[in-house]
Amino acid sequence: MELPFQIIEVLERLENAGFAAFVVGGCVRDFLMGMTPHDFDITTSALPKETEGVFADCRVTETGIKHGTVTVLYKGMSTEITTFRTDGNYSDGRHPDSVSFSRNIEDDLSRRDFTMNGIAYSPKRGFVDPFGGQADIKSGIIRSIGDPDKRFSEDELRVLRALRFSAVLGFSIEEKTCQAVHQHKNKLRKVSSERIFAELSRLLCGKDVKRVLLDFSEIFSEIIPPLGAEIGYEQGSKYHNSTLYEHTARAVEAAPDTVEMRFAMLFHDLGKPSCRSVGEDGECHYYGHGEVSAKMADEIMRALKCGNSLREQVVEIVKYHDIPVETSRKYIRRQLAKHGLEMFTAIMNAHIADDSAKYDFCRERIPKVREAIVAAEQISAESSCLSMKSLVISGNDLREIVPPSPLMGKILEKLLEETVDEKIPNEKSALLKRAAELKEILSRQDN
Ligand code: ATP
Ligand code: MG
Repeated sequence: MELPFQIIEVLERLENAGFAAFVVGGCVRDFLMGMTPHDFDITTSALPKETEGVFADCRVTETGIKHGTVTVLYKGMSTEITTFRTDGNYSDGRHPDSVSFSRNIEDDLSRRDFTMNGIAYSPKRGFVDPFGGQADIKSGIIRSIGDPDKRFSEDELRVLRALRFSAVLGFSIEEKTCQAVHQHKNKLRKVSSERIFAELSRLLCGKDVKRVLLDFSEIFSEIIPPLGAEIGYEQGSKYHNSTLYEHTARAVEAAPDTVEMRFAMLFHDLGKPSCRSVGEDGECHYYGHGEVSAKMADEIMRALKCGNSLREQVVEIVKYHDIPVETSRKYIRRQLAKHGLEMFTAIMNAHIADDSAKYDFCRERIPKVREAIVAAEQISAESSCLSMKSLVISGNDLREIVPPSPLMGKILEKLLEETVDEKIPNEKSALLKRAAELKEILSRQDN
């Protein structure tokens, strides 16, 4: 296994001081799969204080000292070094009540979740793989180390980790592990929102997310109860050839693999069941479902305790995911003024993902949506006025015409609107002249 020189030297130092030391977990798995590891975790027989002694000349932080982890900054590379440990009882299904340090690598590997994550490697000792992780990686299998039911009971998040790895790596879940996953569906409530959110975000961005959403629908409706109403829901629409939940799963996978797009597609139709109406021709309609879905998405994202900025993005994409699309200059300028280029592009990408998850003929609409994205890019590259900030006058300039008041606010908004529509140029004299006219018109309307 190829390792950065710093990692090789860190392992050597620990060995030379009489300890065993290995890289372990995700980096070994990634390497065996031909992928470049993003970080290297080290596990060692040295106790935390002993590790600190070995690296007395380096900056060492006691990042997780209770669990045996110190972080060493070695020749510019920051690495977590954790003492071999076994975990004690999990009386709350969340945290081990205690951890005991061990001098034996196999003890440490046996506390890990899946065989593919239970492999250690060192240049001196080669691979240590007591649970057949290498074979499982070759066959693309996720298998619990030990009894899956017991391992999931210790930490219910492992259920979601199994699904995350399956979606991201495209691996299947071994039969007994899979049975235990299904049996543990209603125990995820014990897990903190933050941990669920972290795994769910990665799962949704996985290349195989559709299969996982479909195969484990009851787990997802456990985490996000309104999804339950989508399962088996017949849409009664000429555009749709699958149930609402299947459509959602397809739309998630069809979207670009960014967190905001994937969450937005997961939530985009949540409001449909409560917005259903039936037309005279028997066709079902869902007027206003974007707005209802957006409200639901907002609540769910708050409960998941994700950051505000992600929540706001997701809510906006969901709210506008089915606006009519046009390619006219006027339409695009209005959309850019309302959403900005990035958000408008995201909303258009939601349209594309949505249309990709219906009958094939719905794809005929996609080229027009792409055209709107290109037009938006071109128009926003022009340095023209699309926001209050870029309007060349402000309230201060209007003081001589109208004192600061709600009326002044209305005038400014109208000026922006007309500038966006290119009815008036974004020039001081033209704007002032128009402001005086608007003052007359708007105050007459108010009376
Ligand atoms: P990635 O970093 O790509 O998400 P990873 O496997 O490194 O994958 P981490 O969450 O960084 O995942 O965890 C590092 C290692 O710690 C895992 O490979 C696994 O051996 C172990 N591990 C992590 N979380 C758990 C858990 N909940 N239960 C048991 N072992 C775990
Ligand atoms: Mg990792």
